[in-house]
Amino acid sequence: MNADFADRQRSAKSEESGKSAKVAGRYDLVIGLEVHAQLRTASKLFCSCPNAFGHDPNRNVCPVCLGHPGALPVLNTRAVDLAVLLGEALGCEIRETSVFARKNYFYPDLPKGYQISQFEHPICVGGAVPLGDGRSVGLVRIHIEEDAGKSKHPEAGDDTESRIDLNRCGVPLVEIVGQPELHSAEDAGLYLSSLKRIVEFLDVCDGNMEEGSLRCDANVSLKPAGAAELGTRTEIKNLNSIRNLERAIRFEADRQAKILDDGGTIDQETRLFDEASGRTRSMRGKEDAHDYRYFPDPDLPPVFVSDDRRTRIAAVMPELPLQRQSRFENSFGLSPDDAAVLTQTRALADYYDAVAESAPDPVAAANWVRTELLGRLSAEGKDITSSPVSPRELTALLKALDDGTLSGKLGKAAVAEMVETGDAFAVVVERNGWKVVSDTGQLAVWVAEAIEKNPSEVASYRAGKTSLLNFFVGQVMKASRGQADPGALRPVIEKALED
Ligand SMILES: [Zn+2]
Repeated sequence: MNADFADRQRSAKSEESGKSAKVAGRYDLVIGLEVHAQLRTASKLFCSCPNAFGHDPNRNVCPVCLGHPGALPVLNTRAVDLAVLLGEALGCEIRETSVFARKNYFYPDLPKGYQISQFEHPICVGGAVPLGDGRSVGLVRIHIEEDAGKSKHPEAGDDTESRIDLNRCGVPLVEIVGQPELHSAEDAGLYLSSLKRIVEFLDVCDGNMEEGSLRCDANVSLKPAGAAELGTRTEIKNLNSIRNLERAIRFEADRQAKILDDGGTIDQETRLFDEASGRTRSMRGKEDAHDYRYFPDPDLPPVFVSDDRRTRIAAVMPELPLQRQSRFENSFGLSPDDAAVLTQTRALADYYDAVAESAPDPVAAANWVRTELLGRLSAEGKDITSSPVSPRELTALLKALDDGTLSGKLGKAAVAEMVETGDAFAVVVERNGWKVVSDTGQLAVWVAEAIEKNPSEVASYRAGKTSLLNFFVGQVMKASRGQADPGALRPVIEKALED
C-alpha cells in the first residue's frame, strides 16, 4: 500500500521520534514545501494534445507545445476550473483576474525557451492545508503553469546518450506554495500526504508520485533556536515519495547543522536528493525570481473567474477527506485510526461507504475491509480499485458472519478465495460445502478424535491445567476445517475431558 496518511498521523504524534540529534535544541528547523500537481484534464494546458502518461515518447506533441514560431496557445478552461476547485477546498482567496507570464530559462526539455506560468497575479492566494490533528499549515499561493518535457539520462548498461521526451511539455500543473511553517520531517510528510489525499479526493490530480503527477520540492533552513529571522535555505528537488521527502529533510538538516557548528555559512542553492545514498548534493547555485525575467505572456489574455463561475464550481465540491473521516467516526462509530485508514483514498472510502450502508455491524465491517480484504488484495498485487470482491459480495459475507451461519475462520478463507477467483460469496460457500456445525453429535466425534490423539495434554488438563481447553478447541477447529461452532464446542470438550 502507498504512503499512508494514518501511519503518518500516528508517527507525527510520537513527537521526538525523528528529530535529528544534531539539530535538536540548538537550531530550529524551518521547512516550506512547493508541490506540483498535474491536473486531470483530457488535453494539455494550451493545445489539444492528450494529457496522458506512458505513451510512446514524442508522440503527444504539436507546434504549440513544441513552441514553434507563430503557434498560439489557447487556454484549457477545465484546468482553470480544477485550480479553482482546489483553491476552494483549501480555503484560498480565488482571484477574479490572474495573469499568465513567461518564465525565461534554457533547458533541453523546454523547447520554447520559456515556461508559461503565473507570477505576479496567481489564481489563488492564502488558504491552508489541514494536517488532520487540528493543526494546519498556511499557503502562500496556488498558481497554474505548464509542465516541461522530461530528460532521460543513460543508466548503467543502458545506451550512452541522454534523450528527451516532450510528451509532458504543456501538461497543466498547479504549484501549491506552502508557508515555511513546518518544523520536522514528520510534519512535512504529514502535510504532503494530507495534500495528496485532498487532490485525489477532489479528482484534481491522481496523486501518483511514482509517475510524477505529484512532485514536491522542499525549502530547508536552520536558524538559532528561538531566533526570529530565517536562515539561508536550500531547495531540495527530486523528491519522488513521502518517505524520500522525510529522508532528504533529515539529511539536509544535519548537513546544515554541521556547517553552522563549524562556523560556516549555508550557500543558497538547489540540491538534488539521491535516493540510493540518502544524501543531497549541489545541483546549481542561487537563483532568484529576477533571474527568470518574468513578463506577462502577450499571447494570452488575463484569466477571468467570475463570482458565478466560482460559486458553480464550489457547489460540486465533494466531501473532503477529513470531513469523511469524521463522518465515519460519528455515523459508523469507527475508531479515529480505522476512519483514517479507510479514507486513505477516495476509492477506498467509497468502497467502505457502500459496505457500511447495508452491513449488520459497520465497525466489524471496517475491520474486515481493513484487515482481511486489503491484506488479501495487497498479497495479490491488487488494490481496492481492482478488487474482484464487490461491496455487495463482502456485505453478503458479513451478514453470514453476523447470523452465525459462517465462522470467522471460514470468513477469512472465503475472502481469500473470493479475491483469488472473483467468484460470488454464495458460489464460494457452495463449492466448499461450508456451513457452521453446531450439532453436538458431530462435534463429539471430532472431540473424541482430538482426545485420542493428545493423551499427554489430556493428562495435564485432568491434573488441573484447564487452560488447555483452548488447545483442544484449536485441534477440533483444525480437524473440522473451521466448520465447528466454537460456542457449542466448548461444553462438549469440557464434558468429554471430565469423563
Ligand atoms: Zn500540443
